[in-house]
Amino acid sequence: MKNTYEDWLIAMKAVFQPEPKIALGQEEYNSHKATSRCMTDLQEALKCTLVPGIADHVLPIMHNVPFFPFFFLEDMQGEADPNGDIFRSVDGSRPKGVSEDAVFLKQQRQSSGGLTQNSSELKAACDSIRLCPEASAERWSRLLALLEELWRWLGLKDEELTQRTQVGGDALSLLLQHSHCTALRSKLLDCEHVMISTLYQACVFLTDQPMEEPKELGEDLQTIAETAIEVQAQKAARAVRKQAEEVLERWKQLSAHAGSWQQQVDEALEKLQEVQASVDQEGLVERGELREGWRPVRDIFIDALLDQIEKTVVFAEELAPLKSDESNDVISNLSPLSLPASNMSQLHDLSTQWTLTQEAEEDQLRLLQESHLDVGSLSQHFLSSSVQLPWQRAISHNKVPYYINHNTQTTCWDHPKMTELFHSLADLNSVRFSAYRTAMKVRRLQKALCLDLLDLSMAQSIFERHELTNGKLLDIPQVIGCLSSMYQCLARRHKELVDILLCVDLCLNWLLNVYDIGRSGMIQALSMKIGLLSLSKGHLEEKYQYLIRQVAAPEESCDHRQLGTLLHSIIQIPRQLGEVAAFGGGNIEPSVRSCFQHANGQDRIEPEQFVEWMRLEPQSVVWLPVLHRVAAAETAKHQAKCNICKEFPIVGLRYRSLKHFNYDVCQSCFFSGRTAKGHKLNYPMVEYCTPTTSGEDVRDFTTVLKNKFRSKKYFAKHPRLGYLPVQAVLEGDNMET
Ligand SMILES: [Zn+2]
Repeated sequence: MKNTYEDWLIAMKAVFQPEPKIALGQEEYNSHKATSRCMTDLQEALKCTLVPGIADHVLPIMHNVPFFPFFFLEDMQGEADPNGDIFRSVDGSRPKGVSEDAVFLKQQRQSSGGLTQNSSELKAACDSIRLCPEASAERWSRLLALLEELWRWLGLKDEELTQRTQVGGDALSLLLQHSHCTALRSKLLDCEHVMISTLYQACVFLTDQPMEEPKELGEDLQTIAETAIEVQAQKAARAVRKQAEEVLERWKQLSAHAGSWQQQVDEALEKLQEVQASVDQEGLVERGELREGWRPVRDIFIDALLDQIEKTVVFAEELAPLKSDESNDVISNLSPLSLPASNMSQLHDLSTQWTLTQEAEEDQLRLLQESHLDVGSLSQHFLSSSVQLPWQRAISHNKVPYYINHNTQTTCWDHPKMTELFHSLADLNSVRFSAYRTAMKVRRLQKALCLDLLDLSMAQSIFERHELTNGKLLDIPQVIGCLSSMYQCLARRHKELVDILLCVDLCLNWLLNVYDIGRSGMIQALSMKIGLLSLSKGHLEEKYQYLIRQVAAPEESCDHRQLGTLLHSIIQIPRQLGEVAAFGGGNIEPSVRSCFQHANGQDRIEPEQFVEWMRLEPQSVVWLPVLHRVAAAETAKHQAKCNICKEFPIVGLRYRSLKHFNYDVCQSCFFSGRTAKGHKLNYPMVEYCTPTTSGEDVRDFTTVLKNKFRSKKYFAKHPRLGYLPVQAVLEGDNMET
């Protein structure tokens, strides 16, 4: 008998060990587990036996302990043992002296068909148990020892829990806390049945004990020995009750403690997961990595820049709404939870990370945009798409572009479009007047390069941004950088007109043709500025001002050399078009002299003096004012009919004879040198870019009247300048008049 009790105790103690092992019959356990109805019946029966108070606590818990009935039956047997053999074997053999009802009950529980017990039978069974004789002292002490052991164990666990009860830290420590918590709770759950059965034993024991004071007994004239036993029993009962109540109290405390800890840990975990989720949603970590993955802007190919800018903008757009205090919300949500500092700091880290990410993103975007405008030192790889097959853009060792035609297997310095443009200029060779011919070629070039869209102030600001100081030699990437900025600006205003890549490449091509014939890969900043300004749009005299200021010293006057540099740079434009012969053959010395003579022989000339001289349309640069007239006339419609081709209204430049009344010639007829009605080419004519005013009509009428009486010889001696057919190259002082 002792052995079986010890076995039971060992089995029970095993429950208290870190790895609980229920050494009791698994089959029985299973059969009882399945009989929940049985449980209810048993509960009914138990209600009659349990001590109020403790029973209130034990009964609800019992519901959740599937194998409780097993222990219960074991104990019930012990309870019913009249010989004091309280603890019985669990092997299912019929114990000595155990009441028939209890054994029957147990057998019924163990058999699958044992669910037919009704509550009245059970009640009867339990009643019979209640009538058991007094318990032995040994049983009390064992019960008490068991209760004490439980009490100690619960105290230990509570202490352990108190030491571990901390909520927070990072996700890992929270998870650890969570697993501690779960382990403790499962340990508690494991020992719950031991708790309950022990408490139940206590209940049953207490029920058997008289609750009244012993004075009653004395009145009943019982023996002193009996009274002594009663007193002893009452003492034991009080001890057991006290211990049972304490165990129950500790149990309740520990359960509540563990429960609240679990709840806190769960909540903290949940919040942390929320934070993590929101972080994942914000993708801050990812973004952080992405941000770190950003390549230095200077390493990005220019053609990838736009793409990068777009991506960064998208990134910024995604990031922007996240600022919406999401992290702050999480923080404020967490605050009442009294999360420890480590968690709070984690959240603040996230917040900081957000700010950093945003700042980094802003920086990146700014850098990208700047780089996109200021492609300065970047690769010109992006220009490769300025040509289509069979052409391929290639770069020589000094970064000068050239073009490969894979069909003909030839290479060429000129962009195919530039070649095309030059071929198309050939049809302008029919224009007999070199100033017009040159001007019209320049006009076509200007349009092809979209420089007709570039106003002077924009050009100037780009020069300043790229620090194109005089004397600076630009390499090809620098030129490309500047041109890229320029065409970016133009494209923003005239999106449909400007093909940035093509324009940059063509303009580079043109600048190299004009200012770096030998393809050294270097261009003078000043030359580039003068070339671009010459072809830009704007008021003619304003253009002269801009041009002279490029070479003028800070005090805004310039000497011979500076003026020479300016005129030399300007004259390169017609030279490149093969038109230099008409404009002094590239020799600018006569023009420089002429300008200084006009300024009364001073050593230096003021910009105003240069503009005054330019108004005279000196031969070396006459094509420039003509360019402006050609451009201005492009859209002009004149209420006049061409006497030669009969075009009406005349579009473009209109030429009115100052020798014959009502003699008008259209631009193309005039340029081709056609005449009619005996009109000579050297007869005076007046040119109109825009429709004439009545004042001009009256003035021309009187001029015609005067000229009517002049001889052919007179006109031969006074040839018109600028738009006369050039018979021979005029040199020296004859150039300017
Ligand atoms: Zn005509």
